[in-house]
Amino acid sequence: MSDCIFCKIAAGEIPSSKIYEDDDVVAFRDIHPQAPVHFLIIPKKHITSLATAEAADEPLLGKMLGLTRTLALQEGCANGFRVIINTGRDGGQEVPHLHVHVLGGPRPWKRTT
Ligand code: 5GP
Ligand code: ZN
Repeated sequence: MSDCIFCKIAAGEIPSSKIYEDDDVVAFRDIHPQAPVHFLIIPKKHITSLATAEAADEPLLGKMLGLTRTLALQEGCANGFRVIINTGRDGGQEVPHLHVHVLGGPRPWKRTT
């Protein structure tokens, strides 16, 4: 989607602090971190939300979930981390491109997302 900010980040058209990238996904630090560690994992393909993902996307969703563990440990979340997928308006989703929040680091955090 040409006007989607996360598609632009995935394409490298908008700068971001990337921590991981492969053919399917990109992970980058949240611009307004809500915890000492706060990054997002997105599919490169535009999927609006978890609610609009299709059965054929499930391997990709599984890959994103597995990456939470790998990247959280890489970012220093040895004592645990929190995974959030805001979905749709009532789910508090502000950016309409599926993204997995990963938050961690020593508590207390200033607030939860
Ligand atoms: P949502 O409320 O949609 O689940 O979360 C969207 C997240 O994306 C927010 O935590 C927000 O700080 C982050 N975000 C929005 N725009 C940008 C951006 O341009 N760059 C980065 N790195 N994060 C962004
Ligand atoms: Zn998009």
